[in-house]
Amino acid sequence: MTATRTVTLIRGDGIGPEVSDAVVSILDSAGAPIRWEEVRVGREAERIEGDLLPARALDSIRKNRVALKGPVGTPVGKGFQSVNVRLRQTLDLYANLRPVRNVPSIPTRFSDVDLVIVRENTEDLYSGLEHTVVPGVVESLKIITAAASTRIARFAFDHARANGRRRVTAVHKANIMKLSDGLFLDCVRSVAEDYPDIASDDRIVDAACMDLVLRPEKYDVLLLPNLYGDIVSDLAAGLVGGLGLVPGANIGSAAAIFEAVHGTAPDIAGQGRANPTALLMSSILMLRHLELPELAERVERALLGALEAGIKTPDVGGTFGTKAFANAVADRARGGQES
Ligand code: NAD
Repeated sequence: MTATRTVTLIRGDGIGPEVSDAVVSILDSAGAPIRWEEVRVGREAERIEGDLLPARALDSIRKNRVALKGPVGTPVGKGFQSVNVRLRQTLDLYANLRPVRNVPSIPTRFSDVDLVIVRENTEDLYSGLEHTVVPGVVESLKIITAAASTRIARFAFDHARANGRRRVTAVHKANIMKLSDGLFLDCVRSVAEDYPDIASDDRIVDAACMDLVLRPEKYDVLLLPNLYGDIVSDLAAGLVGGLGLVPGANIGSAAAIFEAVHGTAPDIAGQGRANPTALLMSSILMLRHLELPELAERVERALLGALEAGIKTPDVGGTFGTKAFANAVADRARGGQES
């Protein structure tokens, strides 16, 4: 019998609780040997526990080493530092992995997108080091280190090798930021020498964006510093049908947090129409990480089967609400229907 694992659950803000509840119900129906340990972070945690990122949440993730997380909102242009960034930095979840591929039965402009975004997750302009030099002049510090760049490059090449991928493309702006992006690129090139079986090249970020919307099928693994990784992830999500469809994982040596690329979607929160597919796909990555590959396949088949049968949420052209969609996938995951 498979041992039960305890996984930290952060339901999140906005559409977070809706999509998290959907995913938990699907995994429970599939018989996943998971005991959920729920903790709060973000505004709700501040309201109830007096802290945006309570020690209880961090301790739970450190103890269980695996978490499933809904999105957590961050005020724009003011207020607290992103809880998401703090979680990644505090737990040193240095690699952000985002597989982007076409979902059969979701028609898009391109039909052969199958790429992986590897984003450095701990430094760059996300260091949160900003100050006013004199009124009207501010400075944001872009921190790039050889240690973090080398570590993320190794992660990308190891991932490529372990997953049968053939090429890693580093994305940068080293023509302008010769020191910071130049260092990132030098580190990637140096790591690439240790992986003669994996091809490697690089693109300047603006040219990469244009090329991605013209010929996305050319790309395999994209390796980016933090900010470009964030932006290019959303661009890539658009190639395959939107943010409702792209999963993600934040991976470090001590823990991993699985979460969708999308945010709290305040425009549709509470309406029962959010697409749980991205978080469900993140949970499928989590099941593989937990070494439950058969269960991962069953849940994936159930998801693809439901989509194939036309069971879709409004963001991808359907009429199903979050709960009805989740119930249909749960039925298939339980083995109630052919998928
Ligand atoms: P967003 O991803 O929340 O929404 C962008 C658009 O995509 C919206 O129109 C939204 O309705 C749609 N969308 C996103 N997810 C969807 C889903 N599952 N189903 C259907 N439609 C979906 O981006 P935003 O509006 O820029 O950000 C809102 C908040 O989320 C901000 O506070 C931001 O800081 C936060 N955020 C959190 C995370 C995270 O927790 N990892 C990631 C990104 C943004």
